[in-house]
Amino acid sequence: MSVKYTPTECPKCGTPLAKNPSGGRPTRWCGDGCKRSGEAEMGRLQTLLRKFEEGRGIELLNGDTVSPRRRKVIAEMQARYDHLAGVPECKQ
Ligand SMILES: [Zn+2]
Repeated sequence: MSVKYTPTECPKCGTPLAKNPSGGRPTRWCGDGCKRSGEAEMGRLQTLLRKFEEGRGIELLNGDTVSPRRRKVIAEMQARYDHLAGVPECKQ
């Protein structure tokens, strides 16, 4: 069983989320604007990540290294995507 993750703030703007008193499924976004904008950003990140990872595949075919700059960009975009998606931050 996985631990239930309850977000405490909107991943788009950082506004603290009100606790849902009815005990229903808590919303991850503070409002419709952040939901639409956040989901659109996730879509853009997904497209970009796919392109950068294609490039990484080509680099690996042509040589056996991936440029540090590409690795950094992919890691940063993945971290932003995970943040918007509500992946809990690893305590490492
Ligand atoms: Zn928000």
